[in-house]
Amino acid sequence: MENHEAAAVAGDGVLDFSRMSLNTFSADSIRGERKKETRLLYLNYNRLSSLHPSVSLFCNLELLDISSNDLSTICDGITRLTKLRTLIAKNNRLDEFSLPKDFGSLQLEVLNFSGNRFQEIPLQCTKLLRLQSLSLGGNRLKSIPAEIENLVSLELLYLGGNLISAIPPEVANLPYLTYLVLCDNHIQSVPPQLTRLHSLRSLSLHNNLLTYLPREILSLVHLQELSLRGNPLVVRFVKEMTYDPPSLLELAGRTIKSRNIPYFPCDLPSNLLHYLDLASKCPNPKCAGVYFDSCVRQIKFVDFCGKYRLPLMHYLCSPECTSPCSSNPQSDAESEDESSVPADRLQRVLLG
Ligand SMILES: [Zn+2]
Repeated sequence: MENHEAAAVAGDGVLDFSRMSLNTFSADSIRGERKKETRLLYLNYNRLSSLHPSVSLFCNLELLDISSNDLSTICDGITRLTKLRTLIAKNNRLDEFSLPKDFGSLQLEVLNFSGNRFQEIPLQCTKLLRLQSLSLGGNRLKSIPAEIENLVSLELLYLGGNLISAIPPEVANLPYLTYLVLCDNHIQSVPPQLTRLHSLRSLSLHNNLLTYLPREILSLVHLQELSLRGNPLVVRFVKEMTYDPPSLLELAGRTIKSRNIPYFPCDLPSNLLHYLDLASKCPNPKCAGVYFDSCVRQIKFVDFCGKYRLPLMHYLCSPECTSPCSSNPQSDAESEDESSVPADRLQRVLLG
């Protein structure tokens, strides 16, 4: 109790009870006026095994730090903190069953659950529509839910040090995402949809299982930092492996698209109209063709900043369309203008 009053002296709306070896903490020990004034409450580095429901009495609380305790649940009372914007709960024993049902009704902007025991991102977290920063590093996450796309205000997503094996394309629907940290996971590929992350400045992918990147990564015009060390990136040109001949449907569709044959909704059944909309343009600059389902996968090396050569996956329309890619990676990139990225674009590519 003495500790509680001593900490209260801090003033300025700050109550700091960090590093006091507290086993319990109850708001009942704080004077009413003080509770009302408190905007920042620090309970980090204690021995709390639960958060007392009386925490809800700090009606003007904006920041709560309960990191480095022994918490395995977060009480319902927290959902009554309508002004809470920042919750820091690093290094506890929390998992996806630890949060109150209505956790998603909070107006949080910053949430840090790093260093806990989450195996999934709780769905309540995907309802925090004002969230700008979400950290769940150093947990046991195996996947990222598609509902992540609900977090439309997100600027920072930190998921390093988990067991994630894939990046769902829904991540690409986060319009303000600036920092995406996925290092130290088990990711084998990067979905080409990530090219839609127009705000992305930093992409951390080191220590994963990537062998190549999608060529679309070149269109991330604001990307300044890309870390790739510790990935089994292929270092030699990979000759084409398999190619199934295109179906008659695909050949007809390619002809219509590449020759710009006009058609109207009244001409074709809706499934064919839809199919024609799915045409992808062949990335070979010397080819005007398109493809649908049947394409040739090729790894092509691209110079970054004149220093690094990154393997990018290309999808070409046919085996005959391989002319710009020679089997010699040395002569390949040097011979072509489009295969290098200006140094002012990507400022740091961390490979080593
Ligand atoms: Zn082509």
